[in-house]
Amino acid sequence: MDTEILIVEDEQKIARFVSLELEHEGYKTKCIADGREALDEALRKEYDLIILDVMLPSLNGIEVLRRLRQTKSTPVIILTARDQVMDKVSGLDLGANDYMTKPFAIEELLARIRVNLKKSLGGTKTSYTLGKLSVDIDARKVTYGDDLIDLTKKEFDLLVFLLENKNVVITREKALDAVWGFDFYGNTNVVDVYIRYLRAKIDNVYKIDLIETVRGSGYIIRQD
Ligand code: CA
Repeated sequence: MDTEILIVEDEQKIARFVSLELEHEGYKTKCIADGREALDEALRKEYDLIILDVMLPSLNGIEVLRRLRQTKSTPVIILTARDQVMDKVSGLDLGANDYMTKPFAIEELLARIRVNLKKSLGGTKTSYTLGKLSVDIDARKVTYGDDLIDLTKKEFDLLVFLLENKNVVITREKALDAVWGFDFYGNTNVVDVYIRYLRAKIDNVYKIDLIETVRGSGYIIRQD
């Protein structure tokens, strides 16, 4: 079955580039440059995922998303400019599943697409197993072999967020948004601090490299 992705972007070069890359990965794509047309198309047809730019002619991406969400839950990744923090906030508030800040690396977008398609197909997972480590989301229980690992709420949420995005580099900013929320105005260093707590309780105790640092970017949990 084809996976169809709607690309809503008025910058022809970006739309074309993203479309070519996605088609190369085996997705079917359609590009629309106008907000109002995009909304009609997204309401008319069942897409598996929508990539939605915010700055668009006739109807901006935030408004497209707001109207789409009145009836549909198609996964949406919004594209925002680096300086438009408000777009990101209102986009996620209105039900965007994810966001990318322009300019972005195509590999990052492809990884985000895979994560969001998997979530919408398989629903959210209730447990994760990595080697001897298992995480039961409903029971909020983490074990390594027979050992119960005692994590605080934030440590647990951060670990689950990393697991949900396995094989994707998580920036400090993304971790902060997901785990601490937008009402947190502190420094992104808090993420580093909590990664240290997690490593002290898991990596260091069991002599494993669960959480990898990606220099200059963030953190990643890898699993083949
Ligand atoms: Ca645009």
